Amino acid sequence: MATVAFIGLGNMGGPMAINLVKAGHAVTVFDLAPQALEQLAQAGAAVAESALAATAGAEYVISMLPAGKHVASVYTGEEGLLQQLDSSVTVLDCSTIDAATARQVGEAAAAIGIGFMDAPVSGGVAAAAAGTLAFMCGGDAATFEKAKLILAAMGKNIFHAGPAGAGQVAKGCNNMLLAIHMIGTTEALEMGARNGLDPSVLSEIMLASSGRNWSLEVYNPYPGVMEGAPASNDYQPGFMVDLMVKDLGLAMEIAEQSGVDNVMGKLAQQRYLKHQQDGNGAVDFSSILRTIQD
Ligand code: NAD
Repeated sequence: MATVAFIGLGNMGGPMAINLVKAGHAVTVFDLAPQALEQLAQAGAAVAESALAATAGAEYVISMLPAGKHVASVYTGEEGLLQQLDSSVTVLDCSTIDAATARQVGEAAAAIGIGFMDAPVSGGVAAAAAGTLAFMCGGDAATFEKAKLILAAMGKNIFHAGPAGAGQVAKGCNNMLLAIHMIGTTEALEMGARNGLDPSVLSEIMLASSGRNWSLEVYNPYPGVMEGAPASNDYQPGFMVDLMVKDLGLAMEIAEQSGVDNVMGKLAQQRYLKHQQDGNGAVDFSSILRTIQD
């Protein structure tokens, strides 16, 4: 059992913190939103009045915050946690943020001897609740070994991607590829349908052929093909277009900073931005099919 401070109890952080409580860890939580704290108190967590207060006596500090500016402010801001923490504490930031901020915070932590990992996740709210998230970690090997012990209560695949920032780079690469193959899958299915093929039959053919991919396997974007997929439930998320747009923005920053001419990634970003601007931000990202149907 470990003593854990958990900061940021939103759609993802809330269920993740609950899983830590269920696994028997002593969890103290903080969020700016009182209703989020209430939910965790009911689940058996201790509630603190500030992020700093939550970290008192903690062996691990875990955060799940919206964006890089929140993470920078919590850890390296004016009253940032890093200055206050004991060097024995392991800090895991599971937020999806820009790789540059993750590296900066990671380096600031390393400079004062604190083990810090960026550990963004793959898998949405359902995976957070089920404890089946995938974690992509960036930081040193010793911190990764400690991180694994605690992340195991919240996820099932835990990868060491490389040094500080590598977790965010891995997430950016993955989600850019996801956007590209989701769009490609919708184009293939729509092309088949307009030529008289049953999308279910075409999906089966492509699943057994070289077009096989994750969207076809578990997230078919064509309504009625796959029970339980957002497409068969009027594109209720799932994974919202807003979040895909956010992740594509981060992926484009990574590509630009590293000089990669990611033509397909840029095209996918344009398509998702347009879809978002057309009022689909809160709809599941597989609804990109509609843009070629309309
Ligand atoms: P959310 O907006 O539901 O939750 C964020 C929480 O952080 C809120 O409760 C907010 O009050 C709290 N917060 C903000 N600033 C704070 C501060 N300074 N101190 C304490 N609490 C603070 O967001 P979410 O959906 O839980 O996503 C969190 C992160 O996970 C994001 O980076 C997101 O990109 C990533 N992510 C989300 C999903 C998803 O499906 N929702 C999937 C994978 C990754």
